[in-house]
Amino acid sequence: MRSNLPKSRFIKVRCNKCKNEQIIFGCASTFINCLVCNKEVAFPTGGKAKIAARVLEVLE
Ligand SMILES: [Zn+2]
Repeated sequence: MRSNLPKSRFIKVRCNKCKNEQIIFGCASTFINCLVCNKEVAFPTGGKAKIAARVLEVLE
């Protein structure tokens, strides 16, 4: 039952504002906010997440 899942990636990002590092889902369909200062770190753009923070690492 998992054959049609898109390739999932997790991305480690650093918040531009408070430098908090957190891991987010690369195909996010909702807005993701920094856990510390609540600044947006990613937002959806038709399927693929737009990252609004510094990408440190892509985790497969
Ligand atoms: Zn932050």
